[in-house]
Amino acid sequence: MSLPNDLKASTIAAQAGGVIDMPSGGVVPPVQPSTTFVRDEDYALVNPDNIYSRDNSDIVRITENVLARLENAEEALLFPSGMAAIAALFRTLPNGATVVVQSGIYWGTTKWLRDFSARRQIALHEVDASDASALEQACTTHRPALVFIETPSNPWLKSVDIARAASCAHASGGLLAVDSTAATPVLQKPLELGADIVMHSATKGINGHSDVLAGVLATAAPAAKVWTDIKADRHDAGAVIGPFEAWLLLRGMRTLPLRVERMSANALKIASWLKAHPKVTDVFYPGLASHPGHKVAARQMQGGFGCLFSFLVQGGAPEALAVVGKLKLFHRATSLGGVESLVEHRHTIEPHTGIPESLIRVSVGIEDADDLIADLSQALG
Ligand SMILES: *Cc1c(COP(=O)(O)O)cnc(C)c1O
Repeated sequence: MSLPNDLKASTIAAQAGGVIDMPSGGVVPPVQPSTTFVRDEDYALVNPDNIYSRDNSDIVRITENVLARLENAEEALLFPSGMAAIAALFRTLPNGATVVVQSGIYWGTTKWLRDFSARRQIALHEVDASDASALEQACTTHRPALVFIETPSNPWLKSVDIARAASCAHASGGLLAVDSTAATPVLQKPLELGADIVMHSATKGINGHSDVLAGVLATAAPAAKVWTDIKADRHDAGAVIGPFEAWLLLRGMRTLPLRVERMSANALKIASWLKAHPKVTDVFYPGLASHPGHKVAARQMQGGFGCLFSFLVQGGAPEALAVVGKLKLFHRATSLGGVESLVEHRHTIEPHTGIPESLIRVSVGIEDADDLIADLSQALG
């Protein structure tokens, strides 16, 4: 039933952690939709693992086990979305706590955190964590209970030195949590670099097919209070993923390492091509040697730099929207990490957060890179 311990990510993923459905012999685990599980004449559970599906689901456990192995974690917990995972983490903080959070990250996180912090009297300090000394300064000054970073960040693609962030969070008596969505567990392992919690929007690269909403938290220290609090919160407050979503996620994850490898190669090729284009004024991709976060990213990411990059075109919003409007292969849609390439004008979505009007964010899929370059070439004119 279970695979040996020392396997590489592609083997663990392809074999879904080694699961065989013994009753049928199937090489694919079944979906069990039942919400409740029966007891025998002596009132003993027929299967002691399963009572009620708010917290007991075989397919959820199987998927969490594969995620934990890919992340080199002791335990992983699935949530119905990435935001539900982030909310479960921050709900462990007492009222009046102090947190340091990276500025300029995924706007949904920032917006929710600002509202939550105001309601709970939490002192929220936003700092550009890609500047390691600014982060260290913030830790020393504020002594946060929790430091939350996102690397590579969305949509600026900034790199944060995870090991340094962990040291400064720990030195001030706090924990470090890392949103590693843009890297996926294949390219970056924050727990190995000292992070206490790693978070992913599994809606993105982990699922990879733009058809499941899911989130994950993982830890190397399942006995820690923060983790037992998160588990209790998920069980009691009920932010659980459904069995069909968990099954789809596991199916998508079988090809995760393969997809990430192809997407990273495509993204590097396209970002390099854009960098040399006369109508492009800048490209933000940690895989480019010219990127300010390249050295940090190269140190803490293995096997590529992911599917996400942003670039600036000459002019402003009208010029950027004209390019976006002419694209034929890239779908104009939010999100990232799917097999199909997506393009987004972030300034239209968040006009008040300082995103340049000329910025175009791209999530590169697994299509042929030359086809994608030809599309960008005709759109840039
Ligand atoms: C999408 C995203 C989230 C939120 O995840 P959902 O699954 O949409 O709730 C959080 N962080 C990052 C970096 C994301 O890209």
